[in-house]
Amino acid sequence: MSGLLLVSFHLLLLFKLVAPVTFRHHRYDDLVRTLYKVHNECPYITRVYSIGRSVKGRHLYVLEFSDYPGIHEPLEPEVKYVGNMHGNEVLGRELLLQLAEFLCEEFRNGNQRIVRLVEGTRVHILPSMNPDGYEVAVAQGADSSGYLVGRNNANGVDLNRNFPDLNTYIYYNEKHGGPNHHLPLPDNWKSQVEPETQAVIHWIRSFNFVLSANLHGGAVVANYPYDKSLEHRVRGFRRTANTPTPDDKLFQKLAKIYSYAHGWMHQGWNCGDYFPDGITNGASWYSLSKGMQDFNYLHTNCFEITLELSCNKFPRQEELQREWLGNREALIQFLEQVHQGIKGMVLDENHNNLAEAVISVSGINHDITSGDHGDYFRLLLPGTYTVTATAPGFEPETVTVTVGPGEPKLVNFHLKRSIPQATPTRRVPNSGHEGRVLPKKVQPRVS
Ligand SMILES: [Zn+2]
Repeated sequence: MSGLLLVSFHLLLLFKLVAPVTFRHHRYDDLVRTLYKVHNECPYITRVYSIGRSVKGRHLYVLEFSDYPGIHEPLEPEVKYVGNMHGNEVLGRELLLQLAEFLCEEFRNGNQRIVRLVEGTRVHILPSMNPDGYEVAVAQGADSSGYLVGRNNANGVDLNRNFPDLNTYIYYNEKHGGPNHHLPLPDNWKSQVEPETQAVIHWIRSFNFVLSANLHGGAVVANYPYDKSLEHRVRGFRRTANTPTPDDKLFQKLAKIYSYAHGWMHQGWNCGDYFPDGITNGASWYSLSKGMQDFNYLHTNCFEITLELSCNKFPRQEELQREWLGNREALIQFLEQVHQGIKGMVLDENHNNLAEAVISVSGINHDITSGDHGDYFRLLLPGTYTVTATAPGFEPETVTVTVGPGEPKLVNFHLKRSIPQATPTRRVPNSGHEGRVLPKKVQPRVS
C-alpha cells in the first residue's frame, strides 16, 4: 500500500517535472520549437504558418487556434495578437507563448470557456514581429541600461513608425467628405516599408481580422487609436491632443476590458505615470505617425489597440510568472470581445455571397465591409442602431437593430439588384422564354 503511494508520489513528481509551463526567455530557435511543441500537443486545433521573413531571414511565425485550422468558417471572427514588434520589449513575446500553451492545455482539459472560444473564434498569434531586434536585445540581457538597444529591426528602422500614413487622408476626409474606411495604400508602398512591415501588411490584408492587440513594454497602459494627433505639429513642435476615432467609445471599452481584467493596469499609477482606468488615447499621450494600430483601423476591418505591459522592457526571468498571472485573464477576455455587436451574411437574391459589401452604422463615420465569404462583423456597444448594407449594382438595405451586452446579434442582408432608372423601359412581349430574360444592361449615355 505504501509502495503504491510512493509510486503515485513519484508519478506526481514526474508530472510536475514535465509540466509544460516554463517561465524563461525564449530565443528564436527556442520560440520556434515551442510553437511546434504546442502544435504537436494540439494538432487538431492549431496550425503554424509563416507570414514572411525578417531582414536577417528569420521567419515570422504565427500559431493559429481554430476548430478548423487553416479555414475561415463563415460567421466565425478572426482575431490576432502581435508581440515583440520592438525587439527589446520582450514580455509580450513570452506572454503569447504562455497563452498558446494555456489555450492548448485548457482545450485538452475540456475547460468549457476555452473550448467555446476555440470553436467559435479563429485566433492568430504572432509572438515576435521583430525577431532580429530581439536577438540584439537579448545579447544585452535583462535589466539592461541600453534602453533602446534592439528596439528597431536589423535595418535600424522602428517598425511602429513604418506603416503607410493614412491618418493625413482620413483627417482630410473627415473634414471635407470622402471614404471613411479602407483607405488605399500609396502606389509605391512596398518600397517605403521594411520586410517585417510588408509581411504584416500582406497578412492583415489576407485575413478579415476583426480585433487585434499589439503588445509592447515600457509602461503599463492600454492605448487606443488614433496614435497620430490631428494637429501633428504646431510651429515645429510635436503636439499631443486627444484624437478620437469615430469608434471612440468602443475603443475605450476594449481598452478597459483589458486594463480591468489585468492584475494592476486599471489602478492607473504605474511606472511613474498616471492613466485614469489604465487606458489612454494614443495621441493624447504622445503623438506618433505611421503606427500599426492606426493603419489597421484605416486600411482594414480590424480594430487594434496597443498594450503596454511592463515598466521594465526586458524583465528578469523570475518576474515572468507573476506577469503571466497578471495578464492571463485579460488576454482571454480581450479575445472574447470579438463576440459583440452585430454580424451576419450579405447575400444576393440567389443566396450568393457578396464580398466587400459596405456596412454602415448611422452616427458612426467608419464603415466596415463583408469578407470574401460574404460575412461581416461589426463590433458595437449595446444600443439601438440603424444599419445599412450597400454593394455596387444593388439596392441598399437598411434595418434597425438593438444590440445587447451578450452575444452578437445576427443580422443578415439580402440585397436586391437595383433596377436601372435612367432609361425608360419598354415592355417586350413575352417571347416564350418565360422569366428567363435578364434585364437589359443600361449603358450610360455618352454626350
Ligand atoms: Zn514598443
